[in-house]
Amino acid sequence: MSRVLIVGAGLTGSICACLLRRELPNKFNIVVWDKSRGAGGRMSTSRSPSNPKCTVDLGAQYISATPYYARIHSSFYEELLAQDLLKPLVVPVEDIVYKEEGILNYVTPSGVSSIVKHYLNKSGAEVLYNRHVTHIYQKDAGWEVCHKEGAPERFDIVVLTMPVPQILQLQGDVGSLMGENQLKRLRAVSYSSRYALGLFYKAGVRIDVPWAAKYFSNNPCIRFIAIDDKKRNLASKDFGPSVVVHTSVPFGVQHLEQEKDAVQNIILEELEKVMPELPQPESIKFQKWRYSQKPDVTAILVLRGLPVQIGDGSSNFNTCLVSSYSYILKRYSTQKFKF
Ligand code: FAD
Repeated sequence: MSRVLIVGAGLTGSICACLLRRELPNKFNIVVWDKSRGAGGRMSTSRSPSNPKCTVDLGAQYISATPYYARIHSSFYEELLAQDLLKPLVVPVEDIVYKEEGILNYVTPSGVSSIVKHYLNKSGAEVLYNRHVTHIYQKDAGWEVCHKEGAPERFDIVVLTMPVPQILQLQGDVGSLMGENQLKRLRAVSYSSRYALGLFYKAGVRIDVPWAAKYFSNNPCIRFIAIDDKKRNLASKDFGPSVVVHTSVPFGVQHLEQEKDAVQNIILEELEKVMPELPQPESIKFQKWRYSQKPDVTAILVLRGLPVQIGDGSSNFNTCLVSSYSYILKRYSTQKFKF
């Protein structure tokens, strides 16, 4: 069996692993490496240090299906709905702007990382965390992959699913395998940057606002706030509420290199102005999304030979799906995909 390494245990990597297993069973031994301590990537779900049942989604907030994607990805949606991993968004979101009509929004009762974990489990892949890939060398017909934590390993195929700037940071042969034009296009890809704060509260605390989530268009610092348990329609005496705050992109860019505590204090001060009624949280999780989302650029880039980079297109659930199956379709010319 060929040994495949998928770098990145985010949505793209997990779907790619799952589709490889489903479409080409018994052909690959699939291994997934991620530099983080857990699955999810930008679809990460954080737990309160004092109560693991109290969770907050720091990155992606909804899974949004346009009529087009609802149709072409219907089997993915049906499966996730049948397993209660997705539920329709039924609570009020203030000042949400829809780019087109007929969009259906879904939330993830167990946190958005549950979708990534679902696909990783289904793939049967060997998933290893704390594996930070640093160098990739072409060796004979395969690849030698070095990581910070131990000895290099050999793979027949390597699939890179991290954001483009992180791919460009890799040492070894990856850069030299790309043509000048390809490199130029990749270097031109720019991501927005944001900060996120997750606030965890003790059981019994109430947050009385008429919305579950709200967008702010005129605030220089805050773009979005969600009462995350309310947004996900959870109610339990066992854990308290959780709140997620996303900053605006201009704020993220302006403060990108500033020290964590200073940025956190600015966000908390601004939060107090927009929500003076908010109680003091029991704990706070700080997250910098240096590579948050990007405009619609080529979602798939096949390098001369391998490895192959697949990306998240315009950065949402559907474009991650498209990247994953485009890669597998192009690479293996299989015609039997049914969604
Ligand atoms: P990632 O999730 O970034 O996964 C890449 C993985 O690679 C990461 O886990 C990373 O740790 C790992 N990695 C990177 N470098 C290395 C290395 N050298 N070695 C090993 N591992 C490495 N999408 C929606 O659909 N709806 C939303 O509401 C939404 N809101 C968002 C809000 C925010 C603030 C952000 C940041 C994103 C949002 N998105 C949303 C976008 C969505 O989260 C992404 O499109 C999706 O998660 C991208 O998945 P991915 O697997 O392609 O990349």
